[in-house]
Amino acid sequence: MKQSKMIEVLKSKFPDINLVPGDNHYWSPKERNVYFKRDDSTLESTWSLLHETGHALLNHIHYFTDIELLTMEMDAWEKAKNLATELDIEIDDDHIQDCLDSYRDWLHKRSLCPDCFLSGIQINTSTYSCIFCHKKWKVSSERFCRPYRRKTL
Ligand SMILES: [Zn+2]
Ligand SMILES: [Zn+2]
Repeated sequence: MKQSKMIEVLKSKFPDINLVPGDNHYWSPKERNVYFKRDDSTLESTWSLLHETGHALLNHIHYFTDIELLTMEMDAWEKAKNLATELDIEIDDDHIQDCLDSYRDWLHKRSLCPDCFLSGIQINTSTYSCIFCHKKWKVSSERFCRPYRRKTL
């Protein structure tokens, strides 16, 4: 499906969500904007757009821990899959798994203590603490949603 067509369909289905062209796909809860990558009609771009729309429809705003963030990611993909079915599009399950894997990796990396490289515990949205050396470190609260290619062995 052409991106322009897709935007048109989504706009008429969900008039209370603003679809705004931008440099990348993301959901901004504050403005209720779903940004989409301008002039990109590739399949993956279409899936990302549905995924971000999923976040919007599920009203994803607050999260406390990275685990909650991951759950929100999975829920948004579930929603995207339902939307895709309605629009007669199929989202590749491998793509979803790739996205979730890259998310897990990212979350894992930021949970590692900068000093002893062991997994810390999250004490609030933006802070982790090491149970071994008691170091605390900040993590960005920026959301991340970028798939990488699964390595084929
Ligand atoms: Zn997401
Ligand atoms: Zn440590």
